[in-house]
Amino acid sequence: MSAAVIDGKAFAANVRGQIAEHVQRLKDENGITPGLAVILVGEDPASEVYVAAKHKQTVEVGMASFEHKLPADVPEAELFALIDQLNADPTVHGILCQFPVPDHLNERDVVARIDPAKDVDGLSVVNAGLLASGEQGLVSCTPLGCLMLLRDQLGNMSGKEAVVIGRSNLFGKPMGQLLLKENCTVTIAHSRTADLPEVSRRADILVAAVGRAEMVKGDWIKPGATVIDVGITRIPHPDKPGKTKLLGDVDYAEATQVAAAVTPVPGGVGPMTIACLLANTLTACCRAHGLTEPAGLTA
Ligand code: NAP
Repeated sequence: MSAAVIDGKAFAANVRGQIAEHVQRLKDENGITPGLAVILVGEDPASEVYVAAKHKQTVEVGMASFEHKLPADVPEAELFALIDQLNADPTVHGILCQFPVPDHLNERDVVARIDPAKDVDGLSVVNAGLLASGEQGLVSCTPLGCLMLLRDQLGNMSGKEAVVIGRSNLFGKPMGQLLLKENCTVTIAHSRTADLPEVSRRADILVAAVGRAEMVKGDWIKPGATVIDVGITRIPHPDKPGKTKLLGDVDYAEATQVAAAVTPVPGGVGPMTIACLLANTLTACCRAHGLTEPAGLTA
């Protein structure tokens, strides 16, 4: 058996295309331009790369991109004043603060300061609570991206056994909630789970979000399962001195021999995250203006 490769890069490009069309319609028919504000505190090189990628893709889909770079020692009050100003700005529909932030700032407090209706990272306690209660909110971008890939791959997921490895607020918990909403029977596994290979083998849908390279072996996978690999571990490149290589949580070569479909790393889940950030910004904009939400781009 050789598994189908779930091409997240192509799927994300398609999602961005749908968003761009919707944005154009909003401009033409309603005179509205969705806007995303990104706050970067300090000069972490990896964060600068992410913020630049977000800016580029935001502009490419026709949205307004507002970048706010603050010094690493910015007082909390100054950061909060900026967030308050963005909360009140009607041209800004989505706000995110790039994490990690310097140690004198508390990520939880920063997220809590953002208006939940503009919390396009879906990380606030309010949005987590809305998801857990089955109510409309904004959903964390990476799990939303995985949901879109799974819906495309499987269609109806009702009754399927789903196992999510990892229970973070950023990924594992919202992913579990989304799969529950799809009527899957959901298990959320973690570092204390007894006999993880056995638990994983139950899964028709196996989602791994741990950050341990190639932990999930072929014999952890039920034949015919759909496997979503969220994990990212950067290792020195074996053939290219000075370069690095990304590995997922799943042993890809083994998984392709057992699974029906699997996401590669890179090129699987990764590209979906920014695409879903843009989808959430569009959704937040439509809700702010009482307009119909984009079909297929929400949970
Ligand atoms: P995290 O907060 O570190 O959570 C990791 C989870 O894995 C925890 O729940 C932990 O369990 C569990 N875990 C650790 N060791 C384990 C083991 N041996 N067996 C079973 N479970 C184990 O990480 P995260 O933010 O959820 O991210 C997870 C991975 O996804 C990382 O590699 C991250 O880089 C990647 N990621 C990728 C994207 C993307 O865009 N592609 C986005 C987000 C995250 P405990 O709770 O018991 O400690």
